[in-house]
Amino acid sequence: MTHEQLVILGSGPAGYTAAIYAGRSGLTPVIYEGLQPGGQLTTTTEVENFPGFDEGIDANELMDRMRKQAERFGADIREAMAVRSDLSKRPFHLWFDDGSEVCCDSLIIATGASAKYLGLSDEEKYRGQGVSACATCDGFFYRGKRVAVVGGGDTACEEAAYLAGLAEKVYMIVRKPFLRASQIMQDRVLQNPKIEVLFEHNTLGLFGDNGVEGAHLVHRKGQPDERIYDLPIDGFFLAIGHKPNSDVVSEWLKTDEQGYILTEGKSPRTSIPGVYAAGDVADPHYRQAVIAAASGAQAAMEAEKFLSQQ
Ligand code: NDP
Repeated sequence: MTHEQLVILGSGPAGYTAAIYAGRSGLTPVIYEGLQPGGQLTTTTEVENFPGFDEGIDANELMDRMRKQAERFGADIREAMAVRSDLSKRPFHLWFDDGSEVCCDSLIIATGASAKYLGLSDEEKYRGQGVSACATCDGFFYRGKRVAVVGGGDTACEEAAYLAGLAEKVYMIVRKPFLRASQIMQDRVLQNPKIEVLFEHNTLGLFGDNGVEGAHLVHRKGQPDERIYDLPIDGFFLAIGHKPNSDVVSEWLKTDEQGYILTEGKSPRTSIPGVYAAGDVADPHYRQAVIAAASGAQAAMEAEKFLSQQ
């Protein structure tokens, strides 16, 4: 088992940015890439809202560049996923799925969050070709088109309202006869003439020869008046919740009831000195690459300060 100064879990914008900052401050950060090297961004196609890329950039290329930038400043990138931790005392101790172990004086958790999907095989088939879990990331590609948002919570309402500013028509596919969202968000979607809420609807599948061209829906599933029909749409947005990837450390750190790691004020400091959380694993609201990157920088600056005081 090796003993490292700083370990970073996760290789999305937060993890790589933390590594870039830590490397430039003279540390030798060790990054464990985790289950999805490059993070959630690699599930989308083009990124048009990351500053500095005026013509947009392919999401995989952006993550590749971040990886190379981290390597340039000395990051040691390892292909493994943490499966167990002991943060009860320093050095912190981590175990990985390849059987390796490491201990470290400081830890940055940048393991992200995973969007929940319905579990339809068509979601996989059309991923990046009409299926998305982020309206802010991909909505722009649906200007003047018809889209559907699945879910009836605050996120779904927010995404539907955002998409209504771009698309010609937005359907909300809601499985219950009511919305779960806060009243203000409900009012916002119900009063928007471009948004039509399809209550008591479930999605059976998607179809299209050239990306998504429509969804097979069922209204009042299992009821005597059940109706199955096809809804023509160009985009299918999931907004049925996210799951923060905090399981491996949640036993030690303060989290909210959904598992998002709680940090001190606007800082990335967790409830344990020397342990920092950056990016979506600590952010239920914004979920943007640029914001995750910024919090990765903050975490590295905090870790550097912490280590210099030890
Ligand atoms: P929620 O858990 O609040 O809502 C998820 C929605 O997805 C529900 O309508 C749920 O339906 C539906 N859903 C879940 N699974 C399925 C499924 N398999 N098939 C169809 N529908 C499904 O998640 P959100 O992401 O909306 O919000 C998470 C938290 O973040 C909430 O506390 C929310 O208030 C907060 N938030 C606040 C915002 C704000 O204040 N501006 C913005 C965004 C989020 P059902 O109701 O039937 O369970």
